[in-house]
Amino acid sequence: MVKGKKIRQKDQPRRVPERTCIACRNKRPKRALKRIVRTPTGEIIVDETGKANGRGAYICARRECWEQALKRGSLARALRATPTAETLEVLRAYAVKLPLETEATETTGASEVMKEAKDGTDSP
Ligand SMILES: [Zn+2]
Repeated sequence: MVKGKKIRQKDQPRRVPERTCIACRNKRPKRALKRIVRTPTGEIIVDETGKANGRGAYICARRECWEQALKRGSLARALRATPTAETLEVLRAYAVKLPLETEATETTGASEVMKEAKDGTDSP
């Protein structure tokens, strides 16, 4: 797992940060994943900004992976915390809104449709 790796966001030429989905174990560009965070106060939330403090876990932005992660307890393991029933509800509700399958988000050379990605994590 990621261990206090220091990432300098200076001028690294188009290095796409990759994360592993805790459900399917596939490596994907960070923006193709959703981040879930256990905040320092112990809350488990979906981190839309990718910047929240706490222990994070990444899951593909597709329902299948979420359901798998919630069902198998991969999330609990990754976060080292068991989500409460309430939290699970919230996460499930969130998962329902995700597409069943990702639509070829990362086919190389496809296009630059990712403009609308709202998280400014990669841009200074
Ligand atoms: Zn996945």
